Amino acid sequence: MTSPLADNLRRIRERIAAAAERVERNPDDVAILAVTKTFPVARIRDAMALGLRTFGENRVQEAIPKIEEIGTSDASWHLIGHLQSNKARFIEERFTMVQSIDSVAIAQTLGRRLKTQLEILIEVNVGEEPQKTGALPQDLPAIAEAIGGISTLQLRGLMTVAPMVSDVEEARPIFQRLRRLRDEASQRLAMPLPVLSMGMSDDYVVAVEEGATMLRLGRALFGPR
Ligand SMILES: *Cc1c(COP(=O)(O)O)cnc(C)c1O
Repeated sequence: MTSPLADNLRRIRERIAAAAERVERNPDDVAILAVTKTFPVARIRDAMALGLRTFGENRVQEAIPKIEEIGTSDASWHLIGHLQSNKARFIEERFTMVQSIDSVAIAQTLGRRLKTQLEILIEVNVGEEPQKTGALPQDLPAIAEAIGGISTLQLRGLMTVAPMVSDVEEARPIFQRLRRLRDEASQRLAMPLPVLSMGMSDDYVVAVEEGATMLRLGRALFGPR
């Protein structure tokens, strides 16, 4: 059986494998997060039939009905868009990871709402684009330190959305910087921060070459939104 989605997934895996080989990485160390925002539940089920199990949504309101329909036993859900404080109460028992923590305030609000531990990433606005969410690199140490004092939050690594560029090579220094910021934070906190969530449909090959452990792929899998 073949389908556009199956073909896309096969091509993505080939490109990940080739990129990993170029830099002597194990392609199994690169996870695919299928980004399903704007796509209906039927497309998520198609992806599950191909073995994909981890899905990214960027709005809590859009995610809730999808999570209710599909459940959390065969699929896990990551929030990748900005979390508003009034939505923090919807995270528990729905999402297994929030990738978009970008301030001490939202970390504290979320932490207070949780009864069990939740994995989180700090989103960093590496390109320092004024219109974008994500913590500025210089604010990262304070946020990471604050999270260390919140028992319900388990910091696993960093996430970034690279600037839109015409040549994907321009994204490379952004990914290199996120990796350096991760290495520094890991050393400062004296704990491993294994997750580097970077690389989207247009730039994931470069992200793999620069150490990504999680690619967030929407259009490359499902086609145009
Ligand atoms: C939409 C989105 C993605 C996926 O984008 P594509 O270009 O469709 O791969 C990844 N990360 C975040 C934060 C997003 O909002």
